[in-house]
Amino acid sequence: MADILAVGAHPDDVEIAVGGTLLKMRDRGCSVVLCHASDGEPTPRGSRETRLAEAQAAARFLGAELEVLSLRNRYIMDSLEARRELALVIRKHRPALVLSPWPVGEHPDHRAVAHLADAARFYAKLSKTDDRGEPWPLPPWWAPDQLYYHLATAVEDPRPAFVVDITQEYTRKQELLACYRSQTNVDMERLAKSAFWGELIGVRYGEAFFRRGSLPLPDLSPFLSPPGERPPAARPPQGLRRRPPPSRQRG
Ligand SMILES: [Zn+2]
Repeated sequence: MADILAVGAHPDDVEIAVGGTLLKMRDRGCSVVLCHASDGEPTPRGSRETRLAEAQAAARFLGAELEVLSLRNRYIMDSLEARRELALVIRKHRPALVLSPWPVGEHPDHRAVAHLADAARFYAKLSKTDDRGEPWPLPPWWAPDQLYYHLATAVEDPRPAFVVDITQEYTRKQELLACYRSQTNVDMERLAKSAFWGELIGVRYGEAFFRRGSLPLPDLSPFLSPPGERPPAARPPQGLRRRPPPSRQRG
């Protein structure tokens, strides 16, 4: 069973959008599966073989497993066949979390994969089907959790559910992206917008995550420093000191 299944339309999409976060999660011992809906063919640069070799090199760098679906670059559609193909990958790896694109941006393949991943997550749980593998997840849960990443040149929705600080991982993320040598014509930073997302949370580089519905938290701990690292409680300003209650007047 995988912790994270990250789905993208083309080799390099996932790495551009959330490569820093995936490196961080691998460092913390989480297992990751990369799933590219296409092998990039027909490709403006490189060949099917070079792009596959690059995707494998990136997966190795990340320490992730790699799955490549049979869809074609530029012609990706949220079809019944594609849903079943991706659902089989979900049933095989049984991830706790699925990452897929937020349905924004200029590339129709990215938007198609956003809808395809939503549907495949639903199809993966079906019983009474000819598809291989056990339904995932088994009842009573209805589906693995799903978060979305941003992959578009323009920021259409600047309100992510949260931003992960990848300042520490930024240099390694550039090494990861360098695995895609044939894609030097792609302005990866323009798509990733690490500095923009980082600025939203007051750090140098970040990666944004979106979610349908509010973000559930167990309590307020994520907003508190560990007890030993907290600054001493500030004394209230003089004017706000509590005054003794007025003495009761006998009437
Ligand atoms: Zn793409």
